[in-house]
Amino acid sequence: MSDNNLYDLVIVGGGPGGLSAGIYAMRAALKTVLVEKGVPGGQVNLSDEVENYPGFIHTSGAELCMKFAEHVRSYGIEERNDEVVAVEPGMAHHTVRLANGQSLKSHAVILSTGGSPRKLEIPGEDELYGKGVSYCAVCDGFFFRGKQVIVVGGGDSACEEALYLAKLASKVSIVHRRDALRASMILQQRVEADCNVEVLWNSVVTEIKADDGGVSRVTLQDTQTGEKRDMPIDGVFIFIGFVPNNQLVPAGTRLNTDGFVITDEKCETHTPGIFAVGDLRERYARQIVLAAGDGALAALAAAHYVETRKAQMGDDACDLPAGLLDE
Ligand code: NAP
Repeated sequence: MSDNNLYDLVIVGGGPGGLSAGIYAMRAALKTVLVEKGVPGGQVNLSDEVENYPGFIHTSGAELCMKFAEHVRSYGIEERNDEVVAVEPGMAHHTVRLANGQSLKSHAVILSTGGSPRKLEIPGEDELYGKGVSYCAVCDGFFFRGKQVIVVGGGDSACEEALYLAKLASKVSIVHRRDALRASMILQQRVEADCNVEVLWNSVVTEIKADDGGVSRVTLQDTQTGEKRDMPIDGVFIFIGFVPNNQLVPAGTRLNTDGFVITDEKCETHTPGIFAVGDLRERYARQIVLAAGDGALAALAAAHYVETRKAQMGDDACDLPAGLLDE
């Protein structure tokens, strides 16, 4: 009796890593399902401008991900629009549990769950989220046309989003805790050249305040003198990095001190057959091209893993009812 519910590969998350893994898995003829709770693309959809994905001189995150999705769909991949609530490693197969109560059994699992914006954890941040506090310029920039906003952070995201907001807002002030930006040189040069963007060096935001329910002021503190002052402002955009979405990573998986998954060079965790790709994985840099590369690598490694495993188990084992496989 064959078990139609047993997959070769379950991919959790439809960002660049997951979609790229899907392309390689389908080309390797793996019985694959891609589970995504939102729309394909994830965080990358929020990037207005992408200029460093090879082959695309200028595109947007949403457009690029639409092309990834079209590509993987051209192979007829099975897709589930569901939330994954748990990934449970097993001896014979792994189990991926869905919020709707169903579960998927699979030889291999690729986790591509990305990250979420890091918070400042200061008074006013949570209370005023959606009332002037935002983590997405593309989503909320429109509401700040002709208004004054601050962008907190000094990395690529802060600079890119400040440049985007500068086209809408009357003034953009980047608040950075040091005296030098972390962003790539090309973005630093653009920030410097944009007369609508200023940088407030050696400064941190310690509180976000409101009048009439919406953001009206922030308290800034000089990181060198400790001096504090209030600055009137209409919007606060926070881009200070992100934290990995590691909630589905099985217990016991090795994580670094920031919660990123430690893998080998094949993107495999220490649990055989469970892989982590893209922004979830500990790595030197975070780029769309690197997440896509991880997806390709993990799918190739998963194909080898599944083939070896099936050969070891023999066809009979694969034909056992799935419930018996873990006994
Ligand atoms: P990031 O590179 O980690 O930069 C975070 C920035 O926020 C840093 O300048 C950091 O200051 C500052 N920061 C962190 N915690 C803070 C706090 N509590 N208070 C005040 N400031 C704080 O994060 P990112 O800009 O989101 O980028 C994440 C990754 O994605 C990076 O690898 C980046 O290269 C990549 N990315 C690439 C592109 C692109 O290639 N176009 C676009 C976006 C993102 P310090 O500098 O002092 O540490």
